[in-house]
Amino acid sequence: MTYLTLTDTAANGAATQALLETHLKTLRLPSFLQNHVQVAEEASKAGLGFDRYLLALAEQEVAQRDRNQQHRCIQSARFPMLKELADFDFSALQSLNKARVLALTQGDYIAKAETVILLGPPGIGKSHVASALGLHACRQKLRVRFYTAAGLVNDLLAAQEKLQVPRLIQAALRQHLIVIDELGFIPFTTQGAQLFFQFCAAVYDRVALIITTNLPFTQWTQLFQDETLTAALLDRLTHHCTILEFLGESYRFKQRMKRQPKSKGGDSPDEAP
Ligand code: ADP
Ligand code: MG
Repeated sequence: MTYLTLTDTAANGAATQALLETHLKTLRLPSFLQNHVQVAEEASKAGLGFDRYLLALAEQEVAQRDRNQQHRCIQSARFPMLKELADFDFSALQSLNKARVLALTQGDYIAKAETVILLGPPGIGKSHVASALGLHACRQKLRVRFYTAAGLVNDLLAAQEKLQVPRLIQAALRQHLIVIDELGFIPFTTQGAQLFFQFCAAVYDRVALIITTNLPFTQWTQLFQDETLTAALLDRLTHHCTILEFLGESYRFKQRMKRQPKSKGGDSPDEAP
């Protein structure tokens, strides 16, 4: 059997092109469509056979699909800022083990649905590292969702009014990684604390979590205002958990001090968390 049973239209170059483009659109191969003429010219100049020509086109299509998928993952993660680990100055933070952070980019904790807690004072790079790890996961085409703790509780409260908390939790369970930033900045109401607990209890062990907090575990009771609930939450979150401690001064504060002449030193009143 021969596959090259070309129809009469194929005798005409323009018609062949038109037919090819129609088929490539039907097959949803946009990279093939965009590149086949140029790649054909290059293959012909280089004296490459049909198989190499086809391989080059297929590789471009696969690479483009990968990029599109990564882009979709990044968009749907809703990062408030795109931060890279490459831009993180590890030398500014003695307490943080660079190798440990880099090991997390491999994503084993995501495959095992484990928790990573980034603990330390404001301005020290917790959100930066948490977002950068989320970005790494997106580049591995994993589904990520970034929340602030306050934003998550607001979403949960709004969902509760519409009796849609189970739906919100179902959507969360479809993620590979959930980042909860700034836990501890705003104390929860009783209802907020309970919903937050319900959310964490549902996703824990099924979805990887990254949590950033300025509050040491001993102070979490103040945040949730319920000892039993706090103990139950900590029990779950710290079960399979990597804790990264960020110790030191605010990075922004240090940068500002570096820029200011020594004579003008002293505490900066506008330092924000
Ligand atoms: P935190 O979440 O601990 O409050 P952020 O991650 O928001 O701190 O950091 C505050 C700002 O300082 C961000 O713009 C962040 O990119 C930057 N920053 C903090 N630490 C570092 C660091 N070690 N290297 C580079 N930038 C840093
Ligand atoms: Mg932060």
